[in-house]
Amino acid sequence: MEYYSKQISRLIEEFSRLPGIGSKSAQRLAFHVINMPKEQVESLAKTLVDARNNVCYCEQCCTLTDQKICPICKNPDRDQKTIMVVETPRDLAAYEKTGKYYGTYHVLHGAISPMLGIGPGDIRLKELMQRLQGDVEEVIIATNSSLEGETTAMYISKLIKPTGIKVSRIASGVPVGGDLEYIDEVTLLRALEGRTQL
Ligand code: ZN
Repeated sequence: MEYYSKQISRLIEEFSRLPGIGSKSAQRLAFHVINMPKEQVESLAKTLVDARNNVCYCEQCCTLTDQKICPICKNPDRDQKTIMVVETPRDLAAYEKTGKYYGTYHVLHGAISPMLGIGPGDIRLKELMQRLQGDVEEVIIATNSSLEGETTAMYISKLIKPTGIKVSRIASGVPVGGDLEYIDEVTLLRALEGRTQL
């Protein structure tokens, strides 16, 4: 039995496809949108489409940006010889929020997970290795301390070792299984300062 008109059902269905949105939240969001002023809905729709159309990967660090090279990579004050490897742009944002890291980043967009069938070729590792052919002094591996994050860290350190570039891993002030983006800034900084060479 259909409780709602087709348009409303479709809206609910679209919302329920988003991560973390169950059917109740989807209904709440759908009715919220329907009650919003028309201009606000149009602006929301346009923002969604524009973001999807214009956001791409930075040609250097692979983070999401609306320019060819992101502002961090472009910034002459950032130390281009130090690269921090993170899993997602959200992790990058977490470290940026500390305001105490002056190097650059490399965003993998995931982690190696044999369980989920995600191999080294499925994340942005090739791009990292290409960058290392330039002038790089240290690679700081800041993947999450989950099984996947640790597997990825190990894999990367083995790849980099033969190049002679210094490889370090952020300290375990980061709780095991913890997602970087939820960790407070003090803990993140301590993890960075206490990094150990691999
Ligand atoms: Zn970049």
